Amino acid sequence: MTLVCVPLVARTVEAMQADAKAAAAAGGDLVEIRLDFIEGFRPREHLPRLIRGCPLPALVTYRPNWEGGQYEGDDATRFETLRLAMELGVDYVDIELKVADKFISFLSGSKPEKCKLIVSSHNYESTPSCEELADLVARIQAVGADIVKIATTATDIVDVSRMFQVMVHCQVPMIGLVMSEKGLISRVLSPKFGGYLTFGTLDATKASASGQPTVEELLDIYNIRRIGPDTKVLGLIANPVKQSKSPILHNKCLQSVGYNAVYLPLLADDLARFLDTYSSPDFSGFSCSLPFKVDAVQCCHEHDPIAKSIGAINTIIRRPDGKLVGYNTDYIGAISAIEDGIGGLGSKDAASSPLAGRLVVVVGAGGAGKAIAYGAKEKGARVVVANRTYEKAVSLASAVGGHALRLAELETFRPEEGMILANATSLGMYPNVDGTPIPKNALSFYDVVFDAVYAPKVTRLLREAEECGVKVVSGVEMFIRQAMGQFERFTGGIEAPESLMREVAAKYT
Ligand code: NAP
Repeated sequence: MTLVCVPLVARTVEAMQADAKAAAAAGGDLVEIRLDFIEGFRPREHLPRLIRGCPLPALVTYRPNWEGGQYEGDDATRFETLRLAMELGVDYVDIELKVADKFISFLSGSKPEKCKLIVSSHNYESTPSCEELADLVARIQAVGADIVKIATTATDIVDVSRMFQVMVHCQVPMIGLVMSEKGLISRVLSPKFGGYLTFGTLDATKASASGQPTVEELLDIYNIRRIGPDTKVLGLIANPVKQSKSPILHNKCLQSVGYNAVYLPLLADDLARFLDTYSSPDFSGFSCSLPFKVDAVQCCHEHDPIAKSIGAINTIIRRPDGKLVGYNTDYIGAISAIEDGIGGLGSKDAASSPLAGRLVVVVGAGGAGKAIAYGAKEKGARVVVANRTYEKAVSLASAVGGHALRLAELETFRPEEGMILANATSLGMYPNVDGTPIPKNALSFYDVVFDAVYAPKVTRLLREAEECGVKVVSGVEMFIRQAMGQFERFTGGIEAPESLMREVAAKYT
């Protein structure tokens, strides 16, 4: 089992003791006492208080500034302190590879049996090649480490794959972590690749290294205790990705149906490179968002026909034969939400769709705009596209046999009663919540107004439409429904737990 270690980085002994208690309450397995963070640290006075009163097994680290820590003194004092920690019964001591030989000679065989020596190496710039990492493991092992620790830095998410390769082949207990947001998967997937421990902070302000998740995220969102070698890896490939609620939504649902998979935020720079690197069958399904929805078409070997017409993919499934198949669940999500808004049942049969024969005005010609325009056309609607960049409106309108408008024309566009408006621009999205694609006085021309934006839940557009007495459909509906479509594809057909999805979406969006 991979242990969850909570780093303690408080500035005073009292605050560190309080954090140790909080770490135990949060479900951590051990704490890392970072002596170099304590101001005015006095070993003989402070160490007994920190170690004897600690509610969890403790790892003591006294990191010097030349290895990324805060300690500025000499090694002799540091070694004395670490030996004292061992005498006081600490479970683990960390020493840097650069001085490990010296430290082991200093101990001259006096290390208590119970205490494990972690020999560590940190690279704050990059992640070396597999060969260099393997060589580093061998050198750390040779010096006499009980546990090998290597922490590198991801400049691209694909760097983490090299750490995974080395971890699975390592014959001794190993902690292999890749720092930065792009390295997050090394921390969450540590149990899948046999990591000895992974770090989880008490909160975002109490990290000891870049990219550490919180203990709560590790335990409650990623369900790390359930991750093992056979766990499938799913995730959202996007850039940026931190703001997404999809990991919470999918992980809660995967847990509820007992499907052995974890869903991660995957901060990628290049979609093709990501998919080529993480090509094992275990990396079995991905959501795909900005800016990769169009690139995904090229990356997939096969496509759902409507996804191909839309020219955007938001779901990629790796089949057992390794082929990547692309789908678009955005269009199903948006269209079924609008259909239900109109009062129909969201039938898959175009002839019976409540959209058939209606005039749908799609504002926006990006990924969501295309999905809605194609979906509406599939359902037998007539489509008008308005977009800030008029040429894109023209191109999308001609692809779906519709008309193009400039944004300014929306104010007076009223060819008939009972139209449907779908906003697929980012206007109104957090933090620019005052944005709206159409003046309020034009909203009463519509029967139903849909907004793809779901943060905030009630956008200015929806609020003003309601004030005009128009029926509104929230982007949260689209979000839930596109996620349900993805969930069913990720799990090979397990029905998405809709009520749980709604509960989670209501709580977190
Ligand atoms: P996209 O491909 O980047 O397209 C963005 C669209 O917004 C383009 O039409 C763009 O016009 C327009 N736009 C951006 N800033 C604008 C501004 N200041 N004034 C006027 N128009 C502007 O993005 P997308 O994937 O289609 O997403 C669009 C929105 O839908 C986002 O808010 C996204 O969060 C939301 N969405 C929601 C869901 C859901 O599940 N609810 C799913 C997907 C997307 P130009 O062509 O002129 O640049």
